[in-house]
Amino acid sequence: MTEQSNRQLRLAQRPTGEPADEIWQFTTEDVPEPGDGEFVVAISHLSLDPAMRGWLDDRPSYLPPVGIGEVMRALGAGRVVASRHQDFPEGTHVTGTFGAQEFAVSDGRGVTRVDTGLAPLTTHLGALGMTGMTAYFGLFDVGAMADGETVVVSGAAGAVGSVVGQLAKIKGGRAIGIAGGPEKCAWLTEELGFDVAIDYKAEKVSRALREACPDGIDVYFDNVGGEILDAALARLRRGARVPICGGISQYNAEGRPTGPANYLNLIAARARMEGFLVFDYAARFPAAAAEMAGWIADGRLVSREHVVEGDLTAFPETFRMLFRGANTGKLVLQITEG
Ligand code: NAP
Repeated sequence: MTEQSNRQLRLAQRPTGEPADEIWQFTTEDVPEPGDGEFVVAISHLSLDPAMRGWLDDRPSYLPPVGIGEVMRALGAGRVVASRHQDFPEGTHVTGTFGAQEFAVSDGRGVTRVDTGLAPLTTHLGALGMTGMTAYFGLFDVGAMADGETVVVSGAAGAVGSVVGQLAKIKGGRAIGIAGGPEKCAWLTEELGFDVAIDYKAEKVSRALREACPDGIDVYFDNVGGEILDAALARLRRGARVPICGGISQYNAEGRPTGPANYLNLIAARARMEGFLVFDYAARFPAAAAEMAGWIADGRLVSREHVVEGDLTAFPETFRMLFRGANTGKLVLQITEG
């Protein structure tokens, strides 16, 4: 163990706008030794998440900001390579918030043992991981989707959005996805079974929604905020629910984020708009993941991971892919063999 080194990505300065290469710094340390009740993970895959952008800003949020000089907070997957913890013996595959580095020491808190016989490690970061849990609890709990309802989701060809639409179909609903570009839209309707896909870069979303949802929207699952949220708010059906999952169109905004102008329609529609955090549902993850694994196994749910191969130096450019729409499905950086 000690002959190896641990390369790490640290935050050197806070970004303005899209995170540039200059905000990062690479360091190398010795691989940590596990203490009593600890284990060391060799991290093979890093999860790239839009939420990471928020963690870079020095403002109060649900987690403290990543400090200057600290290893970048990141979810990841890997294998236990040294252990003094009875529940995590050597060879165990795990996911957890290990940071953007090659090795991490852990006491097991917040770490999940995963079965690579059930699905590849990348899927445990995707549909069977935090991403899939976000779709599941956002749609079924916060969105309170009932069978047969009309669900509209933005960021539909991304990690969370692609699962949301498929879950809506599994529950017998209509799924309308909003995504950027013809390839993504074709993937949604031809391979994932969405009823309609709206290319927000080529179509006027408000008009396309009017055509796609003549009776209105029951659940609008928002991943992007901004103008698309506004267009959806104008089409709500009576009693609609609007889970606010994210607002990626606003994450790199240098001024104040743009709020929705059409929010008064919540009154007329007797509708509910509600933000949520997936971590609050952690106690129910195992049951939800088991249900999702069943849907994957019987072919009703497709988990697509967009895997970029590289080492840690590929992180800055891979991270920017999220804000440029360069990923389809769950974006993962593979830094070593899994
Ligand atoms: P993702 O959708 O896989 O990747 C981001 C996608 O956003 C891009 O591929 C791009 O697709 C789209 N996008 C980028 N800029 C945009 C813009 N200006 N307007 C519209 N679309 C834009 O990412 P994800 O991991 O699934 O996350 C989706 C959302 O869920 C994010 O907002 C994230 O913060 C949120 N989230 C929330 C929770 C929670 O607990 N609340 C948990 C996980 C994720 P196009 O090519 O279609 O533009």
